[in-house]
Amino acid sequence: MNLFPRLPEGGEPTKIRRRALAGYLGLAVGDALGATTEFLRPQEISSRYGLHQDITGGGWLNLKAGRVTDDTEMNLALGKALVNERDFKVEAVGHSFSEWMSSKPVDIGSTVRQGLKSFRRDGTTVQEENEYHGGNGAAMRLYPVVLATLTRPENFEPWAIAQAHLTHHHHESDAGILMIGALSRAAILLGQAAPLDQMILDWTQRYPQFSPKLFKGSYDGYIVNSIRCMLYYFNNTGSFEDCMVKIANAGGDTDTNAVLAGMIAGPFYGLEGLPSRWLKKLEKTVRGQIETQVQDLFEIFNPDLVEPNSPTL
Ligand code: MG
Ligand code: MG
Repeated sequence: MNLFPRLPEGGEPTKIRRRALAGYLGLAVGDALGATTEFLRPQEISSRYGLHQDITGGGWLNLKAGRVTDDTEMNLALGKALVNERDFKVEAVGHSFSEWMSSKPVDIGSTVRQGLKSFRRDGTTVQEENEYHGGNGAAMRLYPVVLATLTRPENFEPWAIAQAHLTHHHHESDAGILMIGALSRAAILLGQAAPLDQMILDWTQRYPQFSPKLFKGSYDGYIVNSIRCMLYYFNNTGSFEDCMVKIANAGGDTDTNAVLAGMIAGPFYGLEGLPSRWLKKLEKTVRGQIETQVQDLFEIFNPDLVEPNSPTL
């Protein structure tokens, strides 16, 4: 069993950067799509919206169409700390999250809030292990760490876990983060040639609780439920759009489940797989921040994947 298979890193730098961008834009459109149906049951979604398949805003947060939520914003905050420091410094990540919390975000999870309050109070960067920390809130903001470690995979685990423990310290959150990161990295480096089926088998042999499953209960923010749900729909759909629409209509923590799926389905299907009507709806400033951040993360952390005179994406 090889949870972190060696993957080729050379060749096709522009394709790799385009797939990396597809993951970031993919998680953002998933957030904007899923935010409308967050915390609803499937029956409530179908009676209110029929099939929810366009970015329309609304939902319990009463969003403007195209607005993203905490999920995308925390990715941007983490990526900002990586770019500013040109390195991973957990204190800088804490400050960036704290600054984001001060901006009065449209939504913030309770575990995230508590963790950031303790960081502000006494500089805590590692929470005590806690049985209530098994939410998906540390996994949902993982993507910039995947991007910053593409060519230095030995940094992935320590950085991914350190950013998580600022707010969440739970063995299933940690394991889920490593699994999603490994799948996302493979999809970015190899696209549809990535051995994702085998990797999902290997990971779920080690962690059977993450096995893709059509889960009939409530899709709450528990990391195990989120991973089961998003892997089930990733495995049982044939396009980025279908995967995201199914997740957004499945109910529960739809925005976050779609964000986690976006990190894998985005690079797997590539930029061409992202529905243009969703990209057009996505807030322009967020789209711009994502494009700039991907460019910066590659130039700083993966210079080997940026060819001289390579096109801006
Ligand atoms: Mg959210
Ligand atoms: Mg959510």
